[in-house]
Amino acid sequence: MKNLRIAIQKSGRLSEKCLSLLNRCGLQFDNRKRTLISRAKNHPVELMLVRDDDIPHYVRDGVCDIGIVGLNELEEKIGCSKSPDNPVKVIRSLGFGSCRLSLAWPKSVPFEGLESFSGKRIATSYPNILERYLESKSIAAEAVEISGSVEVTPSIGVADAICDLVSTGATLDSNGLKEVITILESEAVLVRSNQTLESEQEDFLTRLLQRIDGTLLAQNANYIMMNAPKSSIDEIAQYLPGMETPTVVPLSTDSSKVAIHAVAQEDVVWETMEQLKRAGASSILVLPIEKIIE
Ligand code: ATP
Ligand code: MG
Repeated sequence: MKNLRIAIQKSGRLSEKCLSLLNRCGLQFDNRKRTLISRAKNHPVELMLVRDDDIPHYVRDGVCDIGIVGLNELEEKIGCSKSPDNPVKVIRSLGFGSCRLSLAWPKSVPFEGLESFSGKRIATSYPNILERYLESKSIAAEAVEISGSVEVTPSIGVADAICDLVSTGATLDSNGLKEVITILESEAVLVRSNQTLESEQEDFLTRLLQRIDGTLLAQNANYIMMNAPKSSIDEIAQYLPGMETPTVVPLSTDSSKVAIHAVAQEDVVWETMEQLKRAGASSILVLPIEKIIE
């Protein structure tokens, strides 16, 4: 069968998280070899390590079958990712690489809303997204395309304001800028092309998606176990919010007690464990879950 080819960022903010997700899905690569293409040891998969800017076009053109990229890059290079006839489709949001594409304005200049950008030069690495946004708001401003260090452009007179990726805002702040309007909320997404894959590749992709879902679901989930008097089962169940019906198993050594097991789709805090103890539970264990198939 033809290998399923997956493109991820070669080196940058998303690289390690992408590799770690694929590893947790059971795909093993030789991590020492940072070659352009590396074949998985145990599955019909090839990994392509490229610049993130190239991933949307590679997926669109069938150079690779699926890819992981920031939604910001996808919107910039392909646009309208939500449209059904888009050549590249978002098939999963992956919950890492979160950031936003925002307009930022010099702290020293009064800001009076979106109108302040009229007639201004806005430096950005995302001219397509910015121009679409400005057009939708009927603001006539000039997008000045800059490939890196966009945040310094107002201080050196290249632009009046910027449109850039922000996560904490610390970089903007240290360059005398403040975030004023968010244009796009972004995170890493798994994308595929509209082109049909060979049926075995499609089957493998379905399995991979099940594994990705199981990994993402397991990421925040915990397994909680405890012993408790039979009489406390109902009270204990109240303290297990967001959990599926707990499993109650008799204890062979003590007929007045049971073991209670439950899956929590969230972190179990110390306060919950203390409440459980007050309700009569003992030997309370909280374990991380690694994988789930629903
Ligand atoms: P490449 O060499 O692959 O082109 P790059 O410099 O364009 O790399 P990175 O800075 O590694 O890209 O960022 C990759 C992605 O990480 C961004 O496109 C974005 O989706 C996400 N990201 C998350 N937080 C931030 C942030 N604070 N600043 C920039 N990107 C962020
Ligand atoms: Mg890039």
